[in-house]
Amino acid sequence: MSVTQQQVLDALAKVASPRGVALTNANVLSAITAADGKVFFSINVDAAEARAWESVRAQAEAAVRAIPGVSVAMIALTAERKVGAAPAAPPAPHQHRHAHGVQPVSAHKPPQSPASPMSKQAEIPGVAAVIAVASGKGGVGKSTTALNLALGLRDLGLRVGLLDADIYGPSVPRLTGIHEKPKLNDDRKMIPIERFGLSIMSIGFLVEEETAMIWRGPMVMSAITQMLRDVAWGTLDILVVDMPPGTGDAQLTLAQNVPLKGAVIISTPQDLSLIDARRGLAMFRKVNVPVLGIVENMSYFQCPECGTRSDIFGHGGARHEAERLGVPFLGEIPLHMSIRTTSDSGNPVVASEPDGPHAAIYRAIGTKVRDQLQGATAAA
Ligand code: ADP
Repeated sequence: MSVTQQQVLDALAKVASPRGVALTNANVLSAITAADGKVFFSINVDAAEARAWESVRAQAEAAVRAIPGVSVAMIALTAERKVGAAPAAPPAPHQHRHAHGVQPVSAHKPPQSPASPMSKQAEIPGVAAVIAVASGKGGVGKSTTALNLALGLRDLGLRVGLLDADIYGPSVPRLTGIHEKPKLNDDRKMIPIERFGLSIMSIGFLVEEETAMIWRGPMVMSAITQMLRDVAWGTLDILVVDMPPGTGDAQLTLAQNVPLKGAVIISTPQDLSLIDARRGLAMFRKVNVPVLGIVENMSYFQCPECGTRSDIFGHGGARHEAERLGVPFLGEIPLHMSIRTTSDSGNPVVASEPDGPHAAIYRAIGTKVRDQLQGATAAA
């Protein structure tokens, strides 16, 4: 059964707002996307009012979910502080369970003033550490690396989740071969798909790729926030977030809204993408997210026949760049046929060739990432 925008508006008209008028008349709603039983929109308010609106967001979500035919409702509260306005109220206290293994490193970050953009953040209950995998541009192998890194961390005995937040072109369905839709639990939270020992969620499980492509602006944030908070992640040591490529506003907003313990930057050796990687570093530093390190992907060409190595792209650029910028270098991954074919057939190399040389490389990178997170905890 398809759900129309009008049905959504009718349901929202019955929800009262703190402004004394119906939610639909409060001038706070973004455009509403209603397609294929899935409804997405955001409620945009001033940060000073955000607390008063949280219950409205919940009521709106309940009202939308009650519409027959609605299978997914993602409604985000986005709070912007107006220039010159009073600082936003600090976020509500939240529950936070520490899992064994990687401990949170929140004390590593400088304390955030209530007016800081980071004040929008709240931890995800049960998730000890959220890390971002980012790249300055698309096509450098960010998603392939994010998935195999998640598997490498899994091999270290950690409980790992993967969130494909690449809303413009989610590739995790292709890389994992998952094409089923997540089910809802009794709390109406989406249950991540379990595959390869990972808890996996992708916007690509919910919408067709073409639909995802047209999402812009606040909708991107709404969807990503809900994917983090309306998913029953359970207890995880690390949630790996495959970020959208680039270092624009969407990425900056995401980094501000998600409680990231660190970021891993993926780059190819070519100068151009190194320049992009530098932008990525600058972006994370701007929002006080520790950069855990740089990975050089497609670092050198390894002949699938004879194993001979050729540095066709002037390999080593990322290592030097990392040294120059004072961030850890996490490792180099060769350009190899089996990484491409396993990725593109939904059978990532760490899962399909666990004893092979590539799995060992991803595990070594995973070890460095884990150590970075733990080191940060110890330093704190
Ligand atoms: P991004 O997320 O940066 O857009 P993808 O992870 O989707 O990039 O990778 C783009 C393409 O490159 C895919 O076809 C993938 O299989 C391939 N690829 C990624 N890393 C490697 C590698 N190290 N060796 C060979 N092919 C790779």
